[in-house]
Parts: sequence; C-alpha cells; structure tokens
Amino acid sequence: MEKREFLKAGALLTAGALVAPSVLFGNSTAEAAPTGILADKGPHTLPKLPYAYEALEPHIDKQTMELHHKAHHQAYVDNLNAAVLKTPMEKITLDVFFKNITKYKPEIRNNAGGHYNHTFFWETLNPAASIPMGGIDAAIKKKFLTLDAFKAAFNKEAMNVFGSGWVWLCVNKANKDVFIVSTPNQDNPLMEIPGTVKGVPIIALDVWEHAYYLKHQNKRKDYIAAFWNLVDWNKAEQRFQEATASKTK
Ligand code: MN
Repeated sequence: MEKREFLKAGALLTAGALVAPSVLFGNSTAEAAPTGILADKGPHTLPKLPYAYEALEPHIDKQTMELHHKAHHQAYVDNLNAAVLKTPMEKITLDVFFKNITKYKPEIRNNAGGHYNHTFFWETLNPAASIPMGGIDAAIKKKFLTLDAFKAAFNKEAMNVFGSGWVWLCVNKANKDVFIVSTPNQDNPLMEIPGTVKGVPIIALDVWEHAYYLKHQNKRKDYIAAFWNLVDWNKAEQRFQEATASKTK
C-alpha cells in the first residue's frame, strides 16, 4: 500500500467511529475506480454481444436475442445519448450517474440503467456450461447452504417481480455476504435510491416480458429454468473477486 493511500485509509477508519457505514462504504474516495462500461461517458455505444445470436439456443432463441440486443438495448443507448449529448451530462460516467441517480431526470435513470443492465446481462450468459467455484461458491453456500436452495430463492424472487424488472445476486462489499434483490423497471443495485438495498452485482436476470415472450409466452417460470443453463459462473467468480478485493490497488 502506498503511504498516501495508507494515510487516507487511516483517516477513513478514524472517521468511521463518527459516521454511518453508508458514508464509509458509499462514495468514499478510497473506493476502486469504476471498470467496464461504468467508466463510460457519452457518446454511449451498443457493445457487441460476446457470442452469436443463436449461441444460447435452445434456452434463449435467436430471434429474441436479436431483437433484445439490436432493438431494445440499442434504444436504451440511443435514448441515453439523446438525453446527454450536447449537455454537461455528456461527460458524466455511468458510475457517477448511478451514485447520484435521484438528482437526474427519469430519462437518465431509465436509459443509463437499461444500457448498463443489458450489457451486464449479456456478460452473465455463456453457452458453455460452468459450475460455481471459489469465492462465489463459498459465499452462496455460507448464505443459502446449497446451490439448489440459492436457485430456489432466486427463482422465487424472479417469479414475484410484478411487471417489468430485474433480479440480481449481489455482494455486499463491506462484509462480503451475498444476497438476492429485485429492482423495478431499469433500476439496479448500484443506484443510490433511498429505501433500497445497494450491492455489487454478480449475476442478473432480465424478467421483462421482451426477454422471453416470443419463446415462452407467459411462462416466466420456464424462462427462469432455462436461464440456469446459461449462467457464466467463471464470470460470476471474476466479478466476486473484483468486488471483494482490497480497495487500495
Ligand atoms: Mn431487456
């Protein structure tokens, strides 16, 4: 640890005796720099899918993937750009938007959320089968005892989302515990919204009807079951390690 960072960490620990944990683990200057598209400013761009549209068959069909990526995700990117370009918000990263989301108009919340959530979702999926390992496996078993119990809890949360929204497995950076949470519309657990739980996303499931209606119609349960064949546990472990690593690099 660099001396300067050590001093900063010491100052925060001292402050910790006086301030709430949310201040310590919220927007503290000791927090790691945002990575991936969280660091992106405008103009925002549609990322390429990490696999072909048909690669997730038979679990998620080609037509759904194509529409979901080229039409739905593209629209979030376009609408986000329409809201920020040629304004001071052009220079604001997604990370900063999420930490201050209630200060921005609904177009930012919906479209910055939509852009981030879909990018995260595509990278949660992988046609190659994998199983939980390492830190994420241990954290899931600590909280839920078995993988099946975790999946049952996640499935229940996903079935209970009323209308459109997302289900997330997150980690609490402070104590490294994992938890399941759902968010409405295009909200996500990185957003600072009073009365909601914050966490670092590990895996995400889109439960908007546009994610499954062509193949599964109203049978959300079948779509959720299909999802478990596609979760990239290598990616989940990578995200878990990044989220729980020391904040000073
Ligand atoms: Mn979607």
